[in-house]
Amino acid sequence: MTAKKKVPALPLPVPADRRRFRHRLLSWYRRHGRDLPWRKTDDPYHILVSEIMLQQTQVDRVLPKYAEWLDKYPSMTVLASAPEQEVTRTWYPLGYNVRPRRLQTIAREAVANYGGELPSDEATLRSFKGIGAYTAGAIRSFAFHERAAILDTNVARVLFRVFVARGDPKSHSMKRHLWTLSETLMPSRHVFDFNQALMDFGAMVCVARNPKCLICPMARSCRAYPFTPDT
Ligand code: SF4
Repeated sequence: MTAKKKVPALPLPVPADRRRFRHRLLSWYRRHGRDLPWRKTDDPYHILVSEIMLQQTQVDRVLPKYAEWLDKYPSMTVLASAPEQEVTRTWYPLGYNVRPRRLQTIAREAVANYGGELPSDEATLRSFKGIGAYTAGAIRSFAFHERAAILDTNVARVLFRVFVARGDPKSHSMKRHLWTLSETLMPSRHVFDFNQALMDFGAMVCVARNPKCLICPMARSCRAYPFTPDT
């Protein structure tokens, strides 16, 4: 029987490379970051609504619906007691109708067990049906200003290209590595800005197709530079 080949662990960036990455990212964000309404609140429910809406929808489509939704359902208590069909109708035309139901389920659980509020600790947040590792990290970081890492599709793409650029970006082991990278890179201060900057950078510069490598501030240290679809 042949022994299973052991895959060597992927290295993490050394402290100087982490500092350089943070510095470049935050400098870019201060000049180019988007002005979005969910960045001006630390209400956990508002953050939750924005995160669930953004899961499969572009920012420009989310903006008007986010305002309309919070106008109609200003708290989890109001959302929890709203008729389900009305909630689904209000969501239209965002699509993926599982998402409004998921939001209402979370609101009902928060009302039933937590006085209509979202808790701040990771384990309790993740015990809610519909709150996974990413959403929990976003709520803890953006609403409670905790030092919590995030990893959505945009962030995973940026970290993979800058620090790895080899192997299967979708494998479980790579996902675990990218989570570790996201945690390792997190600064001790400005975590809110850092996480928002990662998301903006993935949405505006290091986009899925045709990333803007020629004007990218990470170009000199990016392992995928210059990115081509076969990289
Ligand atoms: S150089 Fe290209 S692939 Fe690398 S981070 Fe910048 S945009 Fe992304």
